[in-house]
Amino acid sequence: MPRFHIQTFGCQMNVHDSRRIEEVLYERGYQAASGPESADLIVLNTCSVREKADHKLLSMVGTFRDLKEQNHDLVIAVAGCMAQQQGEALLDRLDLVDVVIGPDNIPDLPGLVQHVQDGGPPVARTVFDLDSPSFLTARVRPGQREVSAFVTVMKGCDERCTYCIVPYTRGAERYRAADEIVAECATLCAGGVREITLLGQTVNSWHEPSEPSASESRFPELLRRIARELPQLLRLRYTSPHPRHVTSALVQAHAELDMLPAHVHLPLQSGSDRILRLMLRRYRSADYLARARALMSARPGFTLSTDMIVGFPGETETDFQDTLALVREVGFCAVFAFKYSPRPHTPALRLGDDICEELKSERLARLFELVDELQSKHLQSLVGSTAEVLVEGPSKTNAARWTGRSERHEIVHVDLSAAHEPSGTRDLRDYAGELLRVRVIEANKRSLLAVPMGTMPQPARRLPARKQVVRLPLMSP
Ligand code: SF4
Repeated sequence: MPRFHIQTFGCQMNVHDSRRIEEVLYERGYQAASGPESADLIVLNTCSVREKADHKLLSMVGTFRDLKEQNHDLVIAVAGCMAQQQGEALLDRLDLVDVVIGPDNIPDLPGLVQHVQDGGPPVARTVFDLDSPSFLTARVRPGQREVSAFVTVMKGCDERCTYCIVPYTRGAERYRAADEIVAECATLCAGGVREITLLGQTVNSWHEPSEPSASESRFPELLRRIARELPQLLRLRYTSPHPRHVTSALVQAHAELDMLPAHVHLPLQSGSDRILRLMLRRYRSADYLARARALMSARPGFTLSTDMIVGFPGETETDFQDTLALVREVGFCAVFAFKYSPRPHTPALRLGDDICEELKSERLARLFELVDELQSKHLQSLVGSTAEVLVEGPSKTNAARWTGRSERHEIVHVDLSAAHEPSGTRDLRDYAGELLRVRVIEANKRSLLAVPMGTMPQPARRLPARKQVVRLPLMSP
């Protein structure tokens, strides 16, 4: 039986794609190898959003040279955004690579591997399925307990953020029908999944594929339908939303649906209106702030995290100060920040790359310093409060602890060392997938420590929904 090994770089979309690659390979009789050394097929699922990923791929492929020399039948495939971006050129650049495959061509992978094993030349397939989009379905691994799963609701991106390569590597927006999405969520719930994250490059722009692409987002309706038809689901998340599509209806859904957690990751990128305009983000800092405030008012304790880029071409100290001010004003609980790096095929290339590496590093460090301060304050403020933790699995470092996420998405370690069955015997239950009511007793740098409420961990009740009417101002032109 042939064996595969998959190495994944980059974002959640890639993690999801790697799972689909696995499923396609299992269906064709493959099994997972214990590592690259014992694999007949190595798949490198790449990202090209940042420059470093490019270097990572080059050095990673290089490490397989010895394996390839020892085993001439070993096939190396490159998938993901970099495969899509570079196509056949990647075969010219990397002599060890046999197959290059784009995200829309995953089902063709076993056939292309066979082609190479039959003596065919290296091959690239990077065709977008624009006319008849297909969405690979997520499945629970047989015999495994999976608490969380991703479900794709749309793919591609029609935004044109000037720094971003994604519209080039993932193609135009394509939407999936609600019936198909809800059916996939139902299958996952039946398989024991308790938390689903809806995925899409601009996930909250979702509408039915039959509706014109300029139509208003129907995303809140999709959330309501999933909540209505799958009441057994404990949590429903989504990533990545675009601020442009944070509507009053979406905020209202957060206020009413207790299945939605009190947290959203809402990319901001910069706090300077001048830089946002150069980035073509299509909102101003005031628009973002209005949406952030509306979301935070939807539920008590609602938190936001975000993505930021520092050192975008032309970013002055004043622009950067605007970013710091907005980060402080919103009070993000976490920020994923990166230094700008020019990416091929992006409009921002025309702006040059005039911020030197030292200044980018210095600004990134100042931003992280502020974020650490905000995060520490936020985590400290939760000591003594109660939380609802969806347990993901046992702690990796302490046998008496289980780890999960709160309703606001903080990482929480729950100490169950004092938990005993009513008979007095030690509690050895498997808590993965349970929703527990806990009391926070300690704040660490990036996580919380909590104990169950009562001697025996009690299942949590969902937070009562709140009704409210939110009216968001229109986006500035
Ligand atoms: S919204 Fe902007 S940053 Fe996000 S994928 Fe589309 S172009 Fe890239």
